[in-house]
Amino acid sequence: MSRRTIPGPDVLLCENCGYVLEGLDERGSCPECGKAVSESLSMKRVGSPWQRRPGLGSWISTIRMVVGRPVAIWNVVSVEPLRAAYLTMINIVLACAGPAIAMLVFSLMPPLHNRDWFGAALVSFLATWAIGAPVVSGLSLIEYAGIRGLAHVHRWRVGHVAAIAICAHASVAWLGLLALAIVPLFAIEPDWMISIVSTREESRTLAAFGLVLLLCAIWYSILCGIGYKHMRFANAPRAVQPQPPSGHTIEAPRAGGGGSGDGQ
Ligand SMILES: [Zn+2]
Repeated sequence: MSRRTIPGPDVLLCENCGYVLEGLDERGSCPECGKAVSESLSMKRVGSPWQRRPGLGSWISTIRMVVGRPVAIWNVVSVEPLRAAYLTMINIVLACAGPAIAMLVFSLMPPLHNRDWFGAALVSFLATWAIGAPVVSGLSLIEYAGIRGLAHVHRWRVGHVAAIAICAHASVAWLGLLALAIVPLFAIEPDWMISIVSTREESRTLAAFGLVLLLCAIWYSILCGIGYKHMRFANAPRAVQPQPPSGHTIEAPRAGGGGSGDGQ
C-alpha cells in the first residue's frame, strides 16, 4: 500500500478532513466531509491576541484564552513561527523565575538563617535557574518532537511551524510554576508535609517543586494534544497568490498513505 502524500504548507486543505480544496469554489463545501470551504480559509485563523499584536495586554489576553478556552483557541491560532517563538521564550523565562525566586526566599527563611544567608539565597536562585530552565526547555522540545513524530505517523500536516505555534501557546501551562512562589510558606508551617516526605526542609521544598512541575507538564501535554488535533490540517497565512492545484491528490486523512512534503 502506498502511503498518502502530505501536502505542502501552501496547499489549501479542509481543516476538518484534510481534503485538498485548491481550485474549489469558496462558497462551496468540502466534497469529503461537507465542511464549508470558507471555514477552512487561512484568513479564518486570525491569530491569538499575542500573534496579532504582541504586547503586555495581548499576552495576558492570550493566557486568558488558553486557560479559559483551551479548545476554542486552536481555531484562531495562526500558523506562524516568529511571534510564537517569542511567546515561548517569554513564558519559559517567567515560569523559571517563579521557582528561582521561591528558592531565594526559602533560603532566607528561619530554618536556614544560620547559614551565610546571602550566599545561600544566591546559590539557590542560580541553581534553580540552572536546573529549571533546561528541564522546562527540554520537556518543551520533547513535546515538539512528539508532535512532529505523531504527525508523520498520522499523516497529518503539522509541520515545523504549526508545531511551534502549538507548543508556544501550550507553554502558558508552564506559568503554573509561578505557584511555587508560595513554597516558602510551607517552610513556616510544614507539619503535614513533613509527615509525608521527610523531616528535612530541603526535601519538603523539592517535593513541592516536583509536584508542581509534574502538574504543569501534564497540563502542557494536554494543551499540546488538543492543539495538535485541532490544527492537524491548519492552513498557513498566504502572502502570495495561491499555488495552482498540485498534480497529486490525496485521499481523506484516514486513508493510509505516503509521500512527503511536510515542509511547513
Ligand atoms: Zn473535509
